[in-house]
Amino acid sequence: MIFNQKRVLVTGGAGFLGSHLCERLVKDRHDVLCVDNFFTGTKKNISHLLSNPGFEIMRHDITFPLYVEVDEIYNLACPASPVHYQFDPVQTTKTSVHGAINVLGLAKRIKAKVFQASTSEVYGNPAIHPQPETYWGNVNPIGHRSCYDEGKRCAETLFFDYYRQHKLRIKVGRIFNTYGPRMHPNDGRVVSNFIVQALQNNPITVYGDGNQTRSFCYVDDLIEVFIRIMDTPDDFTGPVNIGNPEEFTINELAEMIINLTKSNSTIKYEPLPFDDPLQRKPDITLAKKTLHWNPKTTLQEGLINTIEYFRGRISGY
Ligand code: NAD
Ligand code: UDP
Repeated sequence: MIFNQKRVLVTGGAGFLGSHLCERLVKDRHDVLCVDNFFTGTKKNISHLLSNPGFEIMRHDITFPLYVEVDEIYNLACPASPVHYQFDPVQTTKTSVHGAINVLGLAKRIKAKVFQASTSEVYGNPAIHPQPETYWGNVNPIGHRSCYDEGKRCAETLFFDYYRQHKLRIKVGRIFNTYGPRMHPNDGRVVSNFIVQALQNNPITVYGDGNQTRSFCYVDDLIEVFIRIMDTPDDFTGPVNIGNPEEFTINELAEMIINLTKSNSTIKYEPLPFDDPLQRKPDITLAKKTLHWNPKTTLQEGLINTIEYFRGRISGY
């Protein structure tokens, strides 16, 4: 075994973020096991890693127990786009809650360190802006987004109970909107939707009046902070906000994508989905101080890379 090499499990490893994380871990010469049920992820996302002896893939649904031997676990399995997580809401909650129980049970048995990919959705439609980790959120427990929001909140609860009760080494990162290459072109998230629409000169579908805000983080910045979080001392559990604090309205995002793609698309306003948060921006003071991390990629730079990726995919259809 190579000095410092770890055996690392990535659940949801064939998805957007998971595939970038697997790539980074393989590059760092760790032994990587990617577990996925391919609900929203694809083999294509990780096909370039398959020939590497340090990389393995297992088809498995994390709502069922898993028996493997690893040193670290990144728990990313869960559909992240509202369209996908609302497609089968019961399965979404099961993935978050049963999935967390299975992953934590595994971590307890093999004494592994475990990272939870939590979300800014735990803050719901926030009454405090920007959102610090100390804010408990404003979440509808019975709405269309609740399967995801409450599932992720319950997963956090389980992580902290395993920490207190079983002394597990846990790390919880609350991810804010992240984008980049390998987002699914049809997953309905705003960046992928707008880029695909712009490249095809179709109308850009802005929901609501487009004055709602989001803060967009480029995937490379996010993967860097995942690794830093996992490498923190055992007394650091989080939760820690991870995202880019630069805030944009959805109208501004649409204009930027139209300009960067030199598209002829026009904007088409459609109804705002249920419980769509009106504003979102992370307070990343804790991440800056503890992890010495600050996202480097501007929205314009990240969008240029992402547009290139989608241009390649669309022409390959
Ligand atoms: P994604 O949908 O591309 O990836 C999720 C992966 O999990 C997919 O490969 C999917 O097939 C797999 N999966 C789903 N249910 C599973 C199950 N029951 N068993 C095994 N595998 C399963 O989404 P993503 O953007 O890569 O998100 C990854 C994680 O990060 C998710 O947990 C998501 O909640 C979290 N997150 C992402 C964002 C973001 O902006 N991308 C923001 C907040 C949180
Ligand atoms: N949105 C939009 N048009 C789209 C897709 C999304 O205007 O085609 C809006 C959506 O209503 C939300 C924001 O963009 O206000 C971000 O949506 P996304 O689904 O990417 O993520 P969310 O932060 O809502 O989970």
